[in-house]
Amino acid sequence: MSRIDSNNITNIVVAGKSGAGKQPRIDVLKEEFNLEQLSTGNIFRKYLGRFNEYGYKGDLDVFWDEKNQRFVPDDIIVEKLGTNDEDVILGLKAKYFVDKGLFVPDYITNQLFEAYFAERNFRKQILDGYPRTVDQSKFLLGLLEKHDSRIDFVLLVDNSDERIIERTVKRRICPKCGRVYHLEYKPPRDGRWCECGAEVIQRSDDTEEKIRSRLKEFKEKALPAINHLRDHGIPVVTVPGHLEEFTPENVRKSVMGAIEKLYQK
Ligand SMILES: [Zn+2]
Repeated sequence: MSRIDSNNITNIVVAGKSGAGKQPRIDVLKEEFNLEQLSTGNIFRKYLGRFNEYGYKGDLDVFWDEKNQRFVPDDIIVEKLGTNDEDVILGLKAKYFVDKGLFVPDYITNQLFEAYFAERNFRKQILDGYPRTVDQSKFLLGLLEKHDSRIDFVLLVDNSDERIIERTVKRRICPKCGRVYHLEYKPPRDGRWCECGAEVIQRSDDTEEKIRSRLKEFKEKALPAINHLRDHGIPVVTVPGHLEEFTPENVRKSVMGAIEKLYQK
């Protein structure tokens, strides 16, 4: 049991490079502080799912005001779409960019995030993948103030670029059963075969080029976003993503030790 009363924890942000090892730390925080994981991946899946369920088959370009580079007003969207369901409308706005392979602008991500966070009363969440830009951090701080909520601290999972590349490039997954392998630490049979008999593959996201581009994105956007929170009084607790002996017990000790130090100050 931790010495920190979980009632005193409102929300936590978990940050780190993609592949740094965030999930095992998030699992510890969920359990210790009775929190829910709010990840941007799930937010997008939810609203895109709501839009897809609605079954609109028309052209999405009719919702876009090309001249002013923004969506047409919401009342026109409601009329053209045939529903005023806010979740469906949020899904439509996200899908417009996703379908075109465009970067989803911050103001859309912020709207989706706010709607999702509001459903959870702005409390008891582990923010994972948000905020990822300084603008998102500013938006988050405004939202917390407006709803009398807070972020207690940022848990930053630190890991070196070289180690992340090494870990990720050698990762193999089974397309059939989803088992995850590593060519060195947990090799598939003869370097190729899953236990279930299927041949393992490398995910298209796991090439060195794609990893390096995600690492660059982290340094240029996500790190300044975290620094912005720190500059506004939110403590940043750093924990190592790499442990000499990676066991659940050691992960827990590393995370809780760092947090307890923060609360002893
Ligand atoms: Zn398999």
